[in-house]
Amino acid sequence: MRKPLVMGNWKLNGSIDMAKNLVEGLRKELSTEAACDIAIAPPVVYLDFVKHQLGGSNIILGAQDVDVNLSGAYTGEVSATMLKEVGVTHVIIGHSERRTYHKESDEFIAKKFGILKESGLVPVLCIGETEAENEAGQTQSVCARQIDAVINALGVEAFNGAVIAYEPVWAIGTGKSATPAQAQAVHKFIRDHIAKQDAKVAEQVIIQYGGSVNDKNAAELFTQPDIDGALVGGASLKVDAFTAIVRAA
Ligand code: 13P
Repeated sequence: MRKPLVMGNWKLNGSIDMAKNLVEGLRKELSTEAACDIAIAPPVVYLDFVKHQLGGSNIILGAQDVDVNLSGAYTGEVSATMLKEVGVTHVIIGHSERRTYHKESDEFIAKKFGILKESGLVPVLCIGETEAENEAGQTQSVCARQIDAVINALGVEAFNGAVIAYEPVWAIGTGKSATPAQAQAVHKFIRDHIAKQDAKVAEQVIIQYGGSVNDKNAAELFTQPDIDGALVGGASLKVDAFTAIVRAA
């Protein structure tokens, strides 16, 4: 049985004060055992502070990105080793915002996947089609291409213990979530695609949905058999909304 993962991606939001209040609120509300794993991914400068705020809580610390190198002359970058040292276990890679604004390619993202595996960190690989690709009927081929880049570079076993977040780009920050049936169809396609290489790997891989998940639509999304939790943007910045999403999982 897969344990769902609800992860908050704070993106470029927050401050020390906000991090303090949010973590305090989440710790209070989520002190009892949840049916899912819970993670938050604050901006990198707040990771160490948030780790201390989390104390002994069962909330997992995540990061929003990582460099492909472990050290060296790469100004501005942060390595997997550094993230691990401050207590990060899960790292988002390939978010559509990085694919778009930083021109990250499938191959480059596969390299990040590899460095995370080597470092003993859990990759949370974001995939998903744009609105134009969706309208052109390319949803499956885009998702397959983004997954295959990792399989080609590292082998299908790389997905053992990893997380995939299906985030249709048209649903991110738009208030226009995929319907549960729409998302389920793509999640099933992703799992079947991996199963063609290795059924066991496909069965255990966590496939989160992301894109305008909120306290209203989460429960129905989570009833779908291949939706294993959510990667949450906007709603993860509010204690009430994020707590409700966790409870729905
Ligand atoms: P929203 O939940 O704000 O749509 O963002 C989703 C997302 O991109 C999470 O990584």
